[in-house]
Amino acid sequence: MNTHTLPHVVIVGAGFGGLQTAQKLAHAPVAITLIDRYNYHLFQPLLYQIAIAGLVPSQIAYPLRTIFRRQKNLTFQMGEVTSIDFDSRYVRTNGSVIAYDYLVLAIGGQTNFYGLQGVEENGFQLKSIEDATGTRNHLLRMFERADREADPDKRRALLTFIVVGGGPTGVETAGALAELISHVMTKDYPDMDLKETRVLLIEATGHVMATYPDELRKSTMDLLQSKNVEILLNTRLTDYDGQRVTLADGSHINGYTLIWTAGVRAADLTNRLGVQQVASGRVRVEPTLQLPGHPEVFVIGDSAYFEDGNHQPLPMLATVAQQEARAAARNIQRILKREQPQPFHYKDPGLLATIGRNAAVARIWGLSFSGFVAWVIWVFLHIYRLIGFRNRLEVLINWAWDYFFYDNQVRLITRE
Ligand SMILES: Cc1cc2nc3c(=O)[nH]c(=O)nc-3n(C[C@H](O)[C@H](O)[C@H](O)COP(=O)(O)OP(=O)(O)OC[C@H]3O[C@@H](n4cnc5c(N)ncnc54)[C@H](O)[C@@H]3O)c2cc1C
Repeated sequence: MNTHTLPHVVIVGAGFGGLQTAQKLAHAPVAITLIDRYNYHLFQPLLYQIAIAGLVPSQIAYPLRTIFRRQKNLTFQMGEVTSIDFDSRYVRTNGSVIAYDYLVLAIGGQTNFYGLQGVEENGFQLKSIEDATGTRNHLLRMFERADREADPDKRRALLTFIVVGGGPTGVETAGALAELISHVMTKDYPDMDLKETRVLLIEATGHVMATYPDELRKSTMDLLQSKNVEILLNTRLTDYDGQRVTLADGSHINGYTLIWTAGVRAADLTNRLGVQQVASGRVRVEPTLQLPGHPEVFVIGDSAYFEDGNHQPLPMLATVAQQEARAAARNIQRILKREQPQPFHYKDPGLLATIGRNAAVARIWGLSFSGFVAWVIWVFLHIYRLIGFRNRLEVLINWAWDYFFYDNQVRLITRE
């Protein structure tokens, strides 16, 4: 295909939204440039599995040049987009300037620490591969240090793991961490007293899984408690110094590990675009996902602020980003055919989160499930959604091995 004379679509971000947009435009009469700071697509929902030594990064990330090897109308460029000139229609990266006819911004989000500097500096987050492997190294190192620590108070602090945020990521991380300790670490450290280990889940509101129906919130609490996760509801954290959490009521919890999953905001670049930002820095978009005043620009995914029929912003979820991507790709093709772009409508596919072995909660087709059935659905859906047959097979084998042998195979402390 001679792409030189075709309209140029630049897609920034090769996460869930950007990838899907590029794939949906594969047969459109456009030339696409896809830009990302990484050379891989990352399946973020399984990052916590790297942190708890269940999977290796290559199993949840896939090289972009391999994904698009056969897509002749697409060029990939690895680079950091630093600014965008909407009037002159070009994107500046840390090594190039790229002009566009249509622009799709799918730059995702980043952790929101709500100004808690101590947490940002001393806590762990799960947003990138580096974050997840850093968390894994730290968690495993805590067991090594506890194993040779003679002071019981210090040992307990080393073995106290605090997860902040009772949403799906926090719940999944806390559940998996509790199982790593009870199923695996107790075998690696036979002298360890399980009573000295604690996994705490701290949540500022009165519920875990705030967006889930009541019956699933209750099931989540029961499942977590059955795995010995201590849940502190209506508890707000105000500081963390790396060894001690301070709570809003002035009390303290000693712990050398804090994993923050309590907030997401739009990616940094949105602050430098001079566009209207709403809650969590997300960019307000038209019902057609176009940027107000710039119909050739589409913003999708975590960085876009789009209200549903109840005037609530759509959640920052992969399913939202993917549906918006399909709508943006359709609208670009409509504009090329001189048709009006159509408003986007989100179809809620349901809710699904795992809490560990044989334990998950799901809301699908209006029905709520919890326990083993929900867990089987979770396992197979996540394997299906991974990119690449090899990754799917490897994850399936890994999980089957861990399931039957009560093992988390990636218990490696590597240099950072
Ligand atoms: C730990 C975790 C668990 C999650 N679990 C679930 C789940 O179970 N179910 C679910 O539906 N969702 C889940 N999510 C949310 C889901 O991952 C996001 O909603 C989704 O990734 C958003 O897609 P996106 O395309 O908007 O952004 P992303 O997928 O984040 O992609 C954004 C891309 O833009 C790139 N980028 C950003 N800025 C720049 C720049 N300046 N220059 C170049 N490239 C840039 C990034 O490198 C990235 O590749 C989870 C998220 C996390 C972090």
